[in-house]
Amino acid sequence: MSDCIFCKIVDGSIPSKKVYEDEKILAFYDLEPQAPVHVLVIPKEHICCADAVNEENVGNIAHIFTKIPEITKSLGLTNGYRIVNNCGEDGCQSVKHMHFHILGGKKLNGTMA
Ligand code: AMP
Repeated sequence: MSDCIFCKIVDGSIPSKKVYEDEKILAFYDLEPQAPVHVLVIPKEHICCADAVNEENVGNIAHIFTKIPEITKSLGLTNGYRIVNNCGEDGCQSVKHMHFHILGGKKLNGTMA
């Protein structure tokens, strides 16, 4: 999508600090880290949010989860981490290209909302 920041990161027209990339997904550091380690993992295909996952595109999301163990190990997150996905208005999703926040590097706050 031409006006999507994360599609622009995928096509290289906006720079990012990449930590993992393959044909389906990309992981890069969040610009405004909320934890000592804060990485975003996205499907390269534009999927706006969790509401838009379907039988055709779910392979991209499944692939993210098969790669998260490798990505988190490479980040040194050997003692656990949190995966967060915000969806829509009430979920406070600010970038409308589905992404998973991986947060770690310290014992995180126990509250979820
Ligand atoms: P969300 O609020 O769940 O939609 O999260 C969007 C995240 O994208 C925020 O944590 C932002 O800091 C992050 N973000 C926005 N633009 C960029 C960018 N160009 N590079 C890296 N992270 C970004």
